[in-house]
Order: sequence, then C-alpha cells, then structure tokens
Amino acid sequence: MHRAIFMDRDGTVSEDVGYMYHAGLYKVFSWTGPAIRKINDSGMKAVLITNQSGVGRGYFDEADVEQVHRILHAELAVHGAKLDGVYVCVHHPAAGCDCRKPNPGMLLQAQRDMNIDLTRSFVIGDKYVDIETAHNAGAKGILVLTGFGQQEREKHERHLHQPDLVVQNLIEAVDSILNGVL
Ligand SMILES: [Mg+2]
Ligand SMILES: [Zn+2]
Repeated sequence: MHRAIFMDRDGTVSEDVGYMYHAGLYKVFSWTGPAIRKINDSGMKAVLITNQSGVGRGYFDEADVEQVHRILHAELAVHGAKLDGVYVCVHHPAAGCDCRKPNPGMLLQAQRDMNIDLTRSFVIGDKYVDIETAHNAGAKGILVLTGFGQQEREKHERHLHQPDLVVQNLIEAVDSILNGVL
C-alpha cells in the first residue's frame, strides 16, 4: 500500500483569492513546486483535494477549474514535480454530497484509486475543515499558516479537531513528514 500527502489547494499550494472567477488570478506559492518534488522523490503519492463549490453555485464551471489546474501542473513541471491525483468537489454545500470536505469522500476515492493506507497518510491545509477531513479518514492533519491558517487558528482554539502539527507553509509541512516528525 502507498502513503499519501493530500494537499488543499487555495491557501495551501496557492494563494486564496476567494472564488476563482478568472484563472489569471491564480498564483502558486514559490515553494510549492519544490515541496511537491520532495513528495515525488519520497515515493509517497501527492494528491490535491479541493472544494470548489463555486461550480455548484453557478459562479464558474468545471472548465474554469481545469484551466486553473493546467496553470498549476505547468508550474509544477518547471520544478520536475507532479500530482498523482487531483480530486475536486464541485457540489453546492446544500447538495449533501459525501466528497465535500470535511467529508472524507475524496480521500476514500483516492484510497480506492491508488491503494492508499490512509492511517499512514496526511492532509495539509489552511483550514480546520482540512484537519477534520484528515481525522474523518483516519489520517493526520497539518495546518499551514498561509491562506486563512493564521486566522483559523485564532478562531478555533477550542475546536474538537486540533491539528497534529502547525507549520508556516507547505514545504515546512512536507519536510516535517519526510523527517518523521509526525
Ligand atoms: Mg484552503
Ligand atoms: Zn461533493
């Protein structure tokens, strides 16, 4: 079985600019390519999991999401890095789907697709919903302080699902995992 590092998109691998009305707004953090390259070199699976309810709300469509992901893939390629999987929940929050984080549906799908041991895997994200997703799937959750991370941490001091680790950014999170800190 494989281990995986699941990564949230907005605020974690790239800036959170709110609803992505235009792919031109998309900006990948400078350390993301090198961080994902380290995951690739480690033999762990690098998997993107993102809630994009803007599709279900009718703000933009799936082609717009794919356009953003083409920008991300191109940026990663510059660093010789790649994602092994990309999972997107496009549903409206009221739709009651099982893939919208904090539901574990995207992780469970990846588990089936890539034979992943979720109990030895991680979710890195800038919101407590990412941490809760990790715990709902039996994985560990790492909060980054980019995106909404800092304000989420202040808001959720007493939240039931506390991160297993809090770090500055994605590459620090990846280094912590690969160095066996968690
Ligand atoms: Mg986020
Ligand atoms: Zn969904």
